[in-house]
Amino acid sequence: MTQYTPMIQQYLAIKKDYPDTFLFFRLGDFYELFFDDAIAASRELEITLTGREGGGAEKIPMCGVPHHSADAYIAELLKNGYKVAVCEQVEDPKEAKGVVRREVTRVITPGTMMEGKWLADKENNYLVALADAHGSMGVAACDMSTGEMYVTSLAGRREAALDEAMQYRPKELVVTGWSGELKTDVPLTSLDPSGIDASAVDAQYGADASGLDLPMRLAVNALLHYIGVTQKRSLTHMRLIKRYDAKQYLQMDSFSRRNLELTETIRDKSKKGSLLWLLDRTETAMGGRMLRRWIERPLVNKSELEARLDAVAHLKGDLLLRADVRRCLDQVYDLERLAGRISYGNANARDLVQLRLSLESVPELKGLLLGSGSPVLHELASGMDECADIAAFLQAALVDDPPISVREGGLIRSGYDAYLDKLHTASREGKTWIAQLEQTEREATGIRSLKVGFNKVFGYYIEVSRANLANIPAGRYERKQTLANAERFITPELKEKEALILEAEEKLIELEYQLFVQVRSEVALHIPRLQNLAERIAAIDVLQAFATVSDERGYVRPELVTTGECVISEGRHPVVEAVLEREKYVANDVEMNQTDRQILLITGPNMAGKSTYMRQIALLVVMAQIGCFVPAKAARLSLVDQIFTRIGAADDLVGGHSTFMVEMLETKHALQKATAQSLILLDEIGRGTSTYDGMALAQSVIEYIQQKIGAKTLFSTHYHELTGLAESLPGVVNVNARCEERGGKLLFLHKIEPGRADKSYGIHVAELAEMPREVIDRAREILSGLEQGSTLAKAGDQQLSLDTLWSAQATSAAALDESATRLSPEEEQIVAELRELDLNQTT
Ligand code: ADP
Repeated sequence: MTQYTPMIQQYLAIKKDYPDTFLFFRLGDFYELFFDDAIAASRELEITLTGREGGGAEKIPMCGVPHHSADAYIAELLKNGYKVAVCEQVEDPKEAKGVVRREVTRVITPGTMMEGKWLADKENNYLVALADAHGSMGVAACDMSTGEMYVTSLAGRREAALDEAMQYRPKELVVTGWSGELKTDVPLTSLDPSGIDASAVDAQYGADASGLDLPMRLAVNALLHYIGVTQKRSLTHMRLIKRYDAKQYLQMDSFSRRNLELTETIRDKSKKGSLLWLLDRTETAMGGRMLRRWIERPLVNKSELEARLDAVAHLKGDLLLRADVRRCLDQVYDLERLAGRISYGNANARDLVQLRLSLESVPELKGLLLGSGSPVLHELASGMDECADIAAFLQAALVDDPPISVREGGLIRSGYDAYLDKLHTASREGKTWIAQLEQTEREATGIRSLKVGFNKVFGYYIEVSRANLANIPAGRYERKQTLANAERFITPELKEKEALILEAEEKLIELEYQLFVQVRSEVALHIPRLQNLAERIAAIDVLQAFATVSDERGYVRPELVTTGECVISEGRHPVVEAVLEREKYVANDVEMNQTDRQILLITGPNMAGKSTYMRQIALLVVMAQIGCFVPAKAARLSLVDQIFTRIGAADDLVGGHSTFMVEMLETKHALQKATAQSLILLDEIGRGTSTYDGMALAQSVIEYIQQKIGAKTLFSTHYHELTGLAESLPGVVNVNARCEERGGKLLFLHKIEPGRADKSYGIHVAELAEMPREVIDRAREILSGLEQGSTLAKAGDQQLSLDTLWSAQATSAAALDESATRLSPEEEQIVAELRELDLNQTT
């Protein structure tokens, strides 16, 4: 170490404390990275790697970015899951003795970003902590940009806790007391419990912390600790903590959320095409984020839902009111993130003006809702603190259109501070005097071309062209500068005025900055009020969004019941319907209950609409349980406590499981946790193994659900044998997705009808795919054998499974062999050659 220069020694001493971050080391106008950081950063950021003499034998690898464009580079690193420590010069280089003192002023990590420009408007940016308190798990999630903090605890397995954590789609995870591996692709930091202040939660949340259990406390403390070491400042906007019990919400595991495409599509993980995309008619960023939270956590409490539905009904019915509400909401900026920036100390004057403008539209919004005639809207509005005092204060303090920079003046409104006004007057009077000087001097000297100007080196001057020099009265001016065609002069009085102006302006700018910071700190004291207001506005925004979509798409209010029924008449899949044209969507009925229609067995060929039907039912349930209307002619829905799905091929390849294993895991999950109030969707369970195996599994799963769980279940299958269960098991009912052949084409009617599917369709599809006649005929023969109860062995040594036959690509080696007798002479020739081929000798 000693061989290095003092600066590099300083660097190494600081870097030692930040081993897992990119250390941005401030050097004049640049942030420099050294050693391995430099090598990695040059690769990540595609910037040139250079070297610097540092006292060692070899040059030190180095790369750097200009400080004014560092944000973009930092954002890039964060996006890729890295952390960045920003190390600043903390003393004036001019006054430094030896190496300038430097300190890390903050560590920026993916889960602790505050800057608006790095964050998606309508998405929370969660940092989530998981704490293992000897078998009991705490999960705490916080969005520093808005100040939200949620916490819960779960008994039992770690997977459940991880699942809960992942519901937040965290940008970063912190774990404590967690030994062993944790499989996730989210950036993760492990904290030693002994290093965490056990009373941090009390210091931050006071009395609100008293109700938290130990796992919750551990998780929140871990979060606060992590925030503390990265942010290095107190966070006054993190005042509210919300504890919840996962049972307060409709529970879905991460498979199901993904399968149902609630907030993103399976295929490309985009919002477009998800339920969130369809419903997002929010006007504000806060509303957008709340909508996402509601979709991720549907409710199970009937009275809360009825209140939401009442509000939606009212807003849907009163078009004028809705238009007015939307107009008001449109004026509201992102209060939550503004509050975050205010407390964090990086809000500028424009942010505060946005805050004022937002607050100014609140009285009208409140008035509209109070006068709406809807008790629910009235209640939401009556609890609204308009924060008129804050708006008035900001109006008095700040000009309407301040600059972005808070260090160059032009922020504070005249009349707000007497001394500032005085300085303004001095500066203005000086400037007026100078402005008039040109005229007075022209008159005094008779030189019409005389000019008064300003430059940075000499300040104000009087300029006279060479030709007119002789006309200047003796002793009137002092010569200051000679140009090619002119001379520049000053007078003592001019310099005196100039000094006054400059002094006033310097003071002015400093004073404006100080006043601005005072204003910001004053507003920061009221942040909890702003957050409460923001939450009410967000809720109204989501309710109006529901009303807007429901109105435009013809949704109806669901009737929520507790009878165990699920009766939907003319239901539609909201997203498929929106993507197709409305007329093309075939509406379908659903009738389920907990007695004689508990399990629907859905048969029908591929592409007939089975999984769309299943998803549609789950989506209608979710929509109803977030308080939205549903796409149907009428719907009577029992509140569901959990939804389980096993649909489609969204397989967990990351986790290293085979498709079949994933299928079994998800099914197991459902069988373990479902209750009679749950909804289970199983799509072709068992197809990943041999026919008998699969069929046997499928049947025993159905029996188990029917006998042990009683959950409403939709089960699609290609195993027609299973349709027989409808006769033997009470509560099991057959339905099928109907198809018809018309003009030689198979037509998918997408209509779900009572009864089992017509068995011939699989072979029919093969026929339409123009499979060889012989294959089709042979398949029919085998099928009829099977239908008469004979075994598959008849098909020769081939293990032909029914579902293979159902697939259009299915082909039977046995059938092909038979068809060889009817080949053309050329084909015979080829077959003969192929037969004679010695594969062992072939490359
Ligand atoms: P399956 O699960 O039976 O293979 P899907 O549910 O995947 O079939 O449906 C196949 C396609 O048919 C879907 O992508 C959708 O475009 C269309 N479809 C499904 N149901 C309907 C419907 N009710 N109305 C119109 N189109 C539908």
